[in-house]
Amino acid sequence: MEIYAENIKEYKRIVIKIGSAILTHQTGKLNLKRIENLVRTISDLSNMGKEIILVSSGAVSAGAAKLGMKIPLVKIEDKKAAAAAGQAELMAIYDRFFSSFGIKIAQMLLTRDVIDNEIRRRNAEETFSVLIKLNCAVIVNENDPVSSDELKFSGNDILAAYVCKLCGADLLVNLSDVDGLYDKNPAKYKTAKLIRKVEKLTPEVLAYAGGAGSARGTGGMVTKLQAARMISEDRTPMIIANGKDPDILYDILDGKIAGTYIVNS
Ligand code: GLU
Repeated sequence: MEIYAENIKEYKRIVIKIGSAILTHQTGKLNLKRIENLVRTISDLSNMGKEIILVSSGAVSAGAAKLGMKIPLVKIEDKKAAAAAGQAELMAIYDRFFSSFGIKIAQMLLTRDVIDNEIRRRNAEETFSVLIKLNCAVIVNENDPVSSDELKFSGNDILAAYVCKLCGADLLVNLSDVDGLYDKNPAKYKTAKLIRKVEKLTPEVLAYAGGAGSARGTGGMVTKLQAARMISEDRTPMIIANGKDPDILYDILDGKIAGTYIVNS
């Protein structure tokens, strides 16, 4: 039985976070077919009047592949260098694909201190606001090459929550290689059930992601729920879904619950 959330149809300003596992192949190189599909879908949504802000990972992975570095990268300085090379590549690809669909893009690279410093935060808010008014698809990543440990957003799941706050998003969609939140680790338990709708982030729900000491940050579910909790302060809902087929965005924005819908009202 399909479950619908009609109100989602009304949402206009959408932050879409997409993870490296979706954007890259096992080789670490960019998955061009998938990126092209994602870009086509986002361009179409933009033509429908949606304002899309894309929080895209993939820079470290693409950069490591481009520079011929041995993966997985361990040292933080190697990751920073890879990100510097990969971000340029990522944006070049996004620009090529988005241009082919007539959509302008802009890049915002953020660090944690932008959020913590009032003046810098306001600067970022203003820039988002102008770019969105100008109908740009804004592509966001952490400014990894200059991010030391203290400055890191602890990954793009959390960055996406901050981006929702900076641009006053109506909805956060987190696309990764998992179908959503399960009540148990689906890799371990065949009986694990996908949870379609979460009304409130109760301790019980948070525990589904695996508590402290569990090896089960399955698909980074812990940080996804942290992000959901952060935006619950603003009553911004979140959807966690599988981004393997970017067409899932049509269903989601049509109000069909694909994945897990965290209501946050
Ligand atoms: N900013 C990193 C990158 O572009 C990704 C961090 C994350 O996926 O959480 O590679």
